[in-house]
Amino acid sequence: MSKVIFLSGAGLSAESGIRTFRDFGGLWHEYDVMDVCSVQGFKRNRQLVLDFYDARRADLADKEPNAAHKMIADLQKEFPDHIVNLTQNVDNLLEKAGCTEVIHLHGELTKIVCEQCGRITDIGYQSIKEHPQCVNCGCKKQRHFVVMFGEEAPHYRTLYQSLADAAMLIVIGTSGQVLPVDEYAKYVRYAVLNNLEPHPEIRTEDFNKVIYAKATEAAPQIAEIVRQFLGNR
Ligand code: NAD
Repeated sequence: MSKVIFLSGAGLSAESGIRTFRDFGGLWHEYDVMDVCSVQGFKRNRQLVLDFYDARRADLADKEPNAAHKMIADLQKEFPDHIVNLTQNVDNLLEKAGCTEVIHLHGELTKIVCEQCGRITDIGYQSIKEHPQCVNCGCKKQRHFVVMFGEEAPHYRTLYQSLADAAMLIVIGTSGQVLPVDEYAKYVRYAVLNNLEPHPEIRTEDFNKVIYAKATEAAPQIAEIVRQFLGNR
């Protein structure tokens, strides 16, 4: 079957007003990433990390999907058996745009997880402070449901399985510092990269099409490429 993988990163949501980590003015200029996004940082100062994700979650409440999220949602409706929707983003804008079965490789901001029993609870945009106890086991050790540096990302297996099965890969808005997207381009017949600008981490030889533009501007072109590809399969 001709599967098309969408693999998105923080750049997809940038135009919705959610800051990327690595772009100029991104979150990592304000915080030391190892303080707020690593296992060591969490051990050092648990409260700082819980507060950081509380702030990110609250910030999400008024954010709306943009034309690039909607383009993916439209294609998913048009070709339900062919689109695989993988994202590094922890926001919920793909779902708000109408996407279903979004695979969040790095977790979801709107959820918390119990460190004792593993129960995942959807708390929407609320503070974790409003959920002092796990609804399943009653313990008081819950945390953000976001993968930190030093932890295993549970869905990477799904990512590689999807790549093995895919004919096309569309990468949108990732600097390639966490995931080697240029390696993934080798798995497929046709690969597209959309970022704002070139990155030293991303070799572009194995991409058939490279679009350096805002995701909302690239969206119509990407939709056309996918429709042509799936229409001619
Ligand atoms: P990144 O911040 O490292 O890179 C952002 C990329 O997006 C850059 O390549 C940049 O060129 C591109 N970009 C910026 N604005 C764009 C636009 N308007 N259109 C198209 N491309 C644009 O992001 P990353 O590679 O996703 O890795 C950072 C990690 O941080 C991820 O693991 C992710 O989980 C997390 N994160 C998530 C969010 C979110 O959920 N929205 C936000 C910040 C960070």
